Amino acid sequence: MLFCFKNLVPHRVCKRLSDFPFDELRKQGFKCALLDLDNTIAPDRAAEPNEYSHRVIRNLKDAGFDCCLVSNAKSSRSAKFAAALGISHVDFAGKPSPKGVWKAMELMNVVAEQTVLFGDQLFTDILAAKRAGIHAVFVEPYDKKEIFYVRFKRFFEYIVRKTCRF
Ligand SMILES: [Mg+2]
Repeated sequence: MLFCFKNLVPHRVCKRLSDFPFDELRKQGFKCALLDLDNTIAPDRAAEPNEYSHRVIRNLKDAGFDCCLVSNAKSSRSAKFAAALGISHVDFAGKPSPKGVWKAMELMNVVAEQTVLFGDQLFTDILAAKRAGIHAVFVEPYDKKEIFYVRFKRFFEYIVRKTCRF
């Protein structure tokens, strides 16, 4: 792996979060799931959770995870989302800075070894998780409909993924 891409390479890649074996991670000692919102647990810029979002959170809770939304989205939208799902949230997370991740860990009262982040973007979610020293799971985007600047970033993600083969 190219050294400069080190913080962009996730520990694991998953196609659909709804099929993810969360109990496997739980057995490894992880107990707190930090979740990106747009295109990870819901369509891009969705106003409220859908059936998929509820299913993912239900599966996580059933496996014994505490969940916290860590979103760069506007505070009111992520707060509403988290409330509807019955989970905690940190808004204005400022990913790829690790600060929002650390704030969430403090809120959830967990250490890095117990924390895993799920996100659909290498340059925000995965970078923030790796910088914070936690387990990073890259989730293939929920759907192809995305705001233009995210589509632009997908090209660079493609280069990183091709180079590092994941
Ligand atoms: Mg996202």
